[in-house]
Amino acid sequence: MPEAPFPLADTHCHLDLMTPETLAAVAAKAPAAGVSSCFVPGVSLSSGSSSSRILENFKSSAVKIFFMLGVHPGYLQDFSEKDFQKQAELRRPFMIGEIGLDRRFEDRFSGAYQEQCLRSQLVIARESDIPVSLHIVGRHERALGIIREFPGIRGIVHGFSGSPELAREYLRSGFLIGIGPLVLNPACRKLRKAVAEIPPDLMVPETDAPFMFRNDGILKTPALPDLLPDIIRETAALQKRSHEETLKAVSRAIAGFLPEEEEKSPAVRSLTT
Ligand SMILES: [Zn+2]
Repeated sequence: MPEAPFPLADTHCHLDLMTPETLAAVAAKAPAAGVSSCFVPGVSLSSGSSSSRILENFKSSAVKIFFMLGVHPGYLQDFSEKDFQKQAELRRPFMIGEIGLDRRFEDRFSGAYQEQCLRSQLVIARESDIPVSLHIVGRHERALGIIREFPGIRGIVHGFSGSPELAREYLRSGFLIGIGPLVLNPACRKLRKAVAEIPPDLMVPETDAPFMFRNDGILKTPALPDLLPDIIRETAALQKRSHEETLKAVSRAIAGFLPEEEEKSPAVRSLTT
């Protein structure tokens, strides 16, 4: 497969949480959609250790897989600062994520505990100069306050669905905006208004597969990485820019997160050699 002129990455795609059938569909369709890599977020400390299963099922050498390390705010039961630190030293992740705050899980993990775990992961990210993938639901003000305690931190605020004002706050705090399948839904007016205003080289596409759906009414087809061209086309239309200009800018934004080939993390190396 020839290299796409503007290679795309699905910057938030849970390949390790997919069924073998879904993985096979991703492997078959992603390269033709110009998707040359997938960033796989960690949700618990054991995420990514199932990489050999992915390798087995993901028979596509055209798509590179990069694993993050992180504990999601809904999976904090096994979080330990020490173990996280150990894993970070061992795995040398290219990104730390997905980490953050989620109001929906506060009955299991208090807001204060979520904030404590977020801070301890941000400490490592800043010390090692590793970008972060943030998962924030309903707690944006708190999250912005916390990331501002870490000047110089950078990353992506994943699955953004907020207002133009909120997007600007994250941009000012060093975070790019992760735009997913919701932008294709005309009912998501606030998000579409934000997307119309965010410079395209400050946003990155994602699907959060397999947890989101295509905007196809009652069919409920899962959104997989081959949806990225649609997300970019819609972004270009909302911004009244040419498709090529948007594609080029988004691809440039993605390149800022792609690890250097020679510095691949051990997990990636084992998948590509
Ligand atoms: Zn996710």
